[in-house]
Amino acid sequence: MPIKVLIAVTWMQGHRIWLSGPLPPCTHGVRVRVRGFSSSREEVRFLDSSNEKGKTPHPNPPPGVPGGGDRKFSIRWFWAFLLIFCLSAAGCQTHLEKYEFVRPEMGTVFQVVVYAPDAAAAKRGADAVFARADELNALLSDYDPKSEISRLSRLTDSGPMTAPVAVGHDLWRIIERAVEASRRSNGAFDITIGPCVKLWRRSHQMGELPNPERLAEARKSVGWEAIKLFPETHSVQLLKPKMRLDVGGIAKGYTAMEMVRMLRERGLPRAMAGAAGDIAVGDPPPGKSNWRIAVQALEQPDKSAGYVELHNASVSTSGDTERYILIDGTRYSHIIDPRTGLGLTHRIGATVIATDGTTADWMSKPLSVLGPEEGLRLIESTPGAAARVVTIEGKQTKVYESNHWREFQSASVP
Ligand code: AMP
Ligand code: MG
Repeated sequence: MPIKVLIAVTWMQGHRIWLSGPLPPCTHGVRVRVRGFSSSREEVRFLDSSNEKGKTPHPNPPPGVPGGGDRKFSIRWFWAFLLIFCLSAAGCQTHLEKYEFVRPEMGTVFQVVVYAPDAAAAKRGADAVFARADELNALLSDYDPKSEISRLSRLTDSGPMTAPVAVGHDLWRIIERAVEASRRSNGAFDITIGPCVKLWRRSHQMGELPNPERLAEARKSVGWEAIKLFPETHSVQLLKPKMRLDVGGIAKGYTAMEMVRMLRERGLPRAMAGAAGDIAVGDPPPGKSNWRIAVQALEQPDKSAGYVELHNASVSTSGDTERYILIDGTRYSHIIDPRTGLGLTHRIGATVIATDGTTADWMSKPLSVLGPEEGLRLIESTPGAAARVVTIEGKQTKVYESNHWREFQSASVP
């Protein structure tokens, strides 16, 4: 824990002096004990010796100071105190180096950037958070038939679930947030979209659209209102047959945020974690007031459309720059419109900033599905959120920004 405030009380020439102020982050404790002083990480306090049990009061207390010392004695103590104060402060100024780690996670590449006192501390932190990402992937991946979410979905194979089933802490949090997201977006965000995502993946392999019967069959199993939640027991009941939950549009933001939270818990608060589309940041790098994150351009995916500057927040981008299918000249995005069951055919990219990663991730989907006008209304009604939407129609590119977007946009040119 960083030292928040260091309070010192001393007496000099009969006057009480308070010294207080913030100190730089301290990753190790500083404990100093000198006669008459007690010092810990949080507090340095002059102890009036007359108040200490079993100690004799000072023979020559200065006027107005019970148990104090003479003038010379007080001045000596003052310098001693100053020395200790400076040593404590210097000890806390741990030099932080930047360390970067990259690992494949959740079907993409996750990156961790962390400022740590040494390589070993950084590696310990990175190993722990990548292990957490592995754990979340093992729970939430719909590609893995053994994952908790796949097992839950399979309970609808022979019809709607007849009773609720308790789920683990992470799956509960994600499903609960996803249902709230569906409600807020009028179903534009919907984790029951799984059967249509599976058809999209098949189309991606085969290069053809699903036939109408197959599509109609898949769509029968879609509908967020068929997720019944039991908050008291963290239980879930799926009320349609052959449902397939797909949290690919919310779980990466959740994971990135979890990683940053865990790094903070381990004493590494100046950190960034995430994959290309979903990034969470903690406290800013040393000497900086923010992290600077590039926003991908929809028109030219290898270029950035500028930078955003933020700390203790998340930023997510969704679009069809990389994942799309081209069939008969039409481009189908991997973002599915739950109203049609097919990938979006209008070209749109959305970047969302939010105070938490789960929100930033899910909100980029309704922005894409509903379009800038309706989508940005959702952003404006979310405290701490901001968004930028880009659409391409023919040769025309249009950019839309939420009211607070400019507060995050970096002034410097990319
Ligand atoms: P992202 O990687 O954040 O752009 O999210 C895209 C992923 O979200 C897709 O690969 C699907 O797994 C999922 N998805 C697609 N459409 C929707 C939707 N309308 N609602 C919720 N999730 C979706
Ligand atoms: Mg995302």
